[in-house]
Amino acid sequence: MNTPSSESVPVKALDPGLYIVATPIGNLGDITMRAVDVLRGVSVVACEDKRVTGKLLKHIGVQKRLIAYHEHSIRQVEDEILDMLHRESVALVSDAGTPLISDPGWQLVKRAKDAGYMVTAIPGPSALIAALVQSGLNNRRFLFGGFMPRTDEGRANCLREVGDLYCTVILYETGPRLTKSLKIMAELWPNREIAVARELTKLYEECRSGTAEELLEHYTAHPPKGEIVLMAGPPITIVPEEHDVETMLRGLLKTEKPSQAATRVAKFTGRDRKELYKMALRLKAE
Ligand code: SAM
Repeated sequence: MNTPSSESVPVKALDPGLYIVATPIGNLGDITMRAVDVLRGVSVVACEDKRVTGKLLKHIGVQKRLIAYHEHSIRQVEDEILDMLHRESVALVSDAGTPLISDPGWQLVKRAKDAGYMVTAIPGPSALIAALVQSGLNNRRFLFGGFMPRTDEGRANCLREVGDLYCTVILYETGPRLTKSLKIMAELWPNREIAVARELTKLYEECRSGTAEELLEHYTAHPPKGEIVLMAGPPITIVPEEHDVETMLRGLLKTEKPSQAATRVAKFTGRDRKELYKMALRLKAE
């Protein structure tokens, strides 16, 4: 297959197919060399907002036919793109970061694969990874929840649903809604470490951590602007080896009853709950 490498300077037409290209999440300098090569080499770029992508293409000195691909016209534009794929190379980009990640595209990818077209990804920036790695939270396991529902009840349900999972939870958030989510987290998860990453790769980048209550206080006094990733560390702060049930139980017993701790560890490890409960009682008595 004729795919570009970072050394391929000449503008070479690419093999027909769909190229999913990650673009910067703020700092245009984060575009990868392969992304530039691909954007230079494809016949068409499908994007969310032509102005946003036009600015990026101008920055890298590429002029390309753009077609708008967003939620409103999705099915019809997908049909058009699928029509092109047998003879043309099409890049899919979003306004920022990795396409499909809280952005449109998975149906297009599915349909292109089902139809037997070449589909490949040119990896690069994504806000969730940039946020996670600088948060200082335990990243052994994490769950990306995208955007939460708009209503308070929907948000609370969403957080309750994942509250028992032994992992860091990552969510996309907006400035006006951040304090609402922090309020719910303060009620549901008063002891978990929370982090807020804002305006990543941009001038006013920050990553602040604390309890939900502390962050709620801060962001009520300083209403946040810009783009936000909200994260909650795992329910216990100890970092156990995956199957070290004793360490997990000890960690949970600091805040939970033996029965609750046993249930949670049983769910996580698949071990017998009764045995774990006995172990929890013994540890509690120590
Ligand atoms: N596809 C993108 C990605 O790979 O990260 C995400 C697109 S989603 C529509 C936009 C959300 O991503 C924002 O509301 C924010 O939660 C998060 N986001 C994007 N850029 C960000 C940045 N520079 N700093 C913090 N969060 C960002």
